Order: sequence, then C-alpha cells, then structure tokens
Amino acid sequence: MLEVRSLVVQYGKAQILHGVSLDVGAGQLVALVGPNGAGKTTTLRAIAGLVTWDLRVLRRQAFLSGQIRFLGQEVQGLLPHRIARLGLVLCPERRRPFRELTVRENLLAGALAQKDVRRVHNRLAEAYELFPALRERERQRAGTLSGGEQQMLAVARALMAAPRLLLIDEPSTGLAPLVKRSVFQQIRAVRDKGLPVLVVDQDASLALSLADLGYVLAQGQVVAQGPQLLGDDTVRRSFLGL
Ligand code: ATP
Repeated sequence: MLEVRSLVVQYGKAQILHGVSLDVGAGQLVALVGPNGAGKTTTLRAIAGLVTWDLRVLRRQAFLSGQIRFLGQEVQGLLPHRIARLGLVLCPERRRPFRELTVRENLLAGALAQKDVRRVHNRLAEAYELFPALRERERQRAGTLSGGEQQMLAVARALMAAPRLLLIDEPSTGLAPLVKRSVFQQIRAVRDKGLPVLVVDQDASLALSLADLGYVLAQGQVVAQGPQLLGDDTVRRSFLGL
C-alpha cells in the first residue's frame, strides 16, 4: 500500500535521512524503531507531507528527495491536507487533545473535513467500538483523562479522518509500562479491523513484539528489517541495545 524509496531529507547542513526505503502492506502493522535522533519522526513527517510543507510554506532551507507511493499514486511533493484526503493520516506525537472540549467533541473535531453527518456518526460509532473506554467518558473533558486515555483519544481522533493507512508517532512516550502495552494492544486491534498502521516508537521491544514487520533506523538509514527482528541476536545487541 505504501512504498517509500530512497528518502533523503536534509535541513540546512544536517542530512537527517540518507535514503530510507520501507513498505507497508495491506492489513499490516509495521514498526519503525531506533535510537533517539535516528530520524523516525522525520520519516513519518516526510510521508505525511510535512517536510514538503516546511519546504514550500516555511521556506526553510531544506531538501527532500525520493519516492513515496500510496495505493499506487505518487504522493511525494503533495501538501499534508492532500495526502490526508487520500487516506494517509498522521497521529502526531504528544497526543494533546483540546483539553476544555469533551472526548466526543475532540473526536468530532477529527472529522471536520467530512460534511456528511451520517458518515461522521458512523465513524464515531466505529471509534467507540474500538475504544470502549472513550465511549464511557464521552462527556468528560479531555484534559481530565489519564495519559493512556489521551493517547487512545489521539488514535481515535485520527480514525475519525477515515484513514486507509494510519501513521502513529511515538504512542508510548511518557506512559507507564502496563499502559504502553495496553495502548499497543489497541493499535493492534486497529490493525485487526483491517486498517494498516505504520508506528514509530522508542520502545523497540514492545513495538517489534506486536508488529508484523519491523524496521530499525539508525543515523538516518535502515540498518535491519524483517518480521522477527527480536529473534535476531545481532540486531538486538548492535542496534537495539537489548
Ligand atoms: P526522537 O525519538 O528523539 O524524536 P527520531 O528518531 O524521531 O528521534 P527525528 O525527530 O526524526 O528523530 O530527528 C532526527 C534528527 O533530525 C535530530 O538530530 C533532529 O534534531 C534533526 N531534525 C529534525 N527535524 C529538524 C528540523 N526541522 N530542522 C533541523 N533539524 C531537524
């Protein structure tokens, strides 16, 4: 579904990505892991069109090259809203909801581009089906949710934009181990519903243990890839510090 080839990103003199290639197939949960500063977030930002945004709108000194194809269409060079409309939706890091709005209002805000009220309500029902805890709290102000619940709300809000592939950046940041696991299990449930997911996370063990396919990124390059990376001692020792 998603094919990324030879992605190069440079900001000023700093080259962040040195030719990253990766694939996400239909129905797959794919994890992109690696140390701090490896370029994971930059990879997701490039796929979602945000690096193109930096280039075009902020006029920062930046460079982007490579191919990004989604459902057979070249999306490299499109701006973020066009890419999101094709169904490639990013759930960014830091998961901040609109704190003063209720859970339900936050979810509805995720579907602002959809004018058909019936469709919006169908999506809301689907989001609640995947995240029943959010239904229980639908009238609660989002600022009062726990960290794990806020992360679930962030994923559910991204689902409201009707993705055909979901990009999730660092869902486990700042969460306790048990909560992290539960968030990742919910992400797997999203995959089980048939929606492919590309997730970036610093918790390599957790992300790789639940993913169908993993990629390890180090210093802007893919240094290992495969379905069973945790079973590979060299990868564990050399790249994951496990
Ligand atoms: P982390 O888990 O720490 O977020 P990461 O693997 O997601 O790491 P990135 O956020 O992609 O890494 O950052 C990779 C490198 O690129 C870092 O050294 C960062 O400082 C640099 N970088 C990212 N975005 C920019 C930018 N807009 N301008 C300049 N440098 C940037």
